[in-house]
Amino acid sequence: KYALGPKILDWDEQRRGWLARNPGFPATVAGGKPRIMLVTGSQPGPCDNPLGDHYLLKSTKNKIDYCRLHGIEIVHNLAHLDTELAGYWAKLPLLRRLMLSHPEVEWIWWMDSDALFTDMAFELPLSRYDGHNLIIHGYQDLLFEKHSWIALNTGSFLFRNCQWSLDLLDAWAPMGPKGFIRDQAGKVLTANLKGRPAFEADDQSALIYLLLSQKEKWMDKVFIENSYYLHGFWAGLVDKYEEMMENHHPGLGDERWPFVTHFVGCKPCGSYGDYPVERCLRSMERAFNFADNQVLRLYGFAHKGLESPKIKRIRDQTAQAINDVENLDMMAKISMAS
Ligand code: UDP
Ligand code: MN
Repeated sequence: KYALGPKILDWDEQRRGWLARNPGFPATVAGGKPRIMLVTGSQPGPCDNPLGDHYLLKSTKNKIDYCRLHGIEIVHNLAHLDTELAGYWAKLPLLRRLMLSHPEVEWIWWMDSDALFTDMAFELPLSRYDGHNLIIHGYQDLLFEKHSWIALNTGSFLFRNCQWSLDLLDAWAPMGPKGFIRDQAGKVLTANLKGRPAFEADDQSALIYLLLSQKEKWMDKVFIENSYYLHGFWAGLVDKYEEMMENHHPGLGDERWPFVTHFVGCKPCGSYGDYPVERCLRSMERAFNFADNQVLRLYGFAHKGLESPKIKRIRDQTAQAINDVENLDMMAKISMAS
């Protein structure tokens, strides 16, 4: 059976020991918040469509902005650490490697390259997750009643850096190896998950199948989140941004001001998406600018419109120093008051 690496049994003790020996690398950051590492990645080579590379850059800039404003470290990976787990499976060996290489990190947060932060003020309610090790967007009833292949979304999720998470990755990986195994596993997944088209095994279906078939073993440490958009499906959101700006403010994270807009099915970097590429690119441009306005505003600028990369000045220039983070808080408060 395929394995991600040599079996590890004592990670919690190892990590505890490491943290005790390395007080210069604490598992918390300023304000006592748990240390978070956001991990994203893209294919090692250029996109089929050069516009895809442009949107990859925008998506990475968007993540850098969010992480800078919230004291989160960011990793962008371009390598296939394990050639058998290429493509969407590449996140598994990567997450394992990063957990082991960074004992100081408490939470590892995977985010797809085709997902954008669209609420720059929202922060994860981490205290809610104290007793949990995997935080993922989804719906309990879609999972356990419908066995739906979209019950959970693996475009944006967090793992606590602990033994449990390594065990889950080990249990998740075996359907991933490219070729015969992945193809055969795809048939099992399609036969068992509602709505799943016939194709090779993907990481999302495999996780859903694992949690369904071993519910007792895993579910008490899994937090299925849907009180805000840890992942938000783009098609229902991108045309409502103007309405949201009219009626709401950043910091809400839910349908009023979605935390994440994820371009599921778009594949701007590849050539085989489920939606017309023009619609995808236009929608990604809108999501990027909607988010970028929240950043530019800190510096006194805004996009001329959600479909325009051009910007305009929205404040007079000042000679005073202002702090990003305070300003971001202020932005949420001001818009809340209005
Ligand atoms: N990915 C990666 N390396 C690759 C291919 C994909 O790191 O060689 C990442 C990338 O961030 C992408 C995610 O895996 O968004 C999921 O893959 P894909 O885009 O194919 O699936 P989708 O997001 O469309 O479901
Ligand atoms: Mn995606």
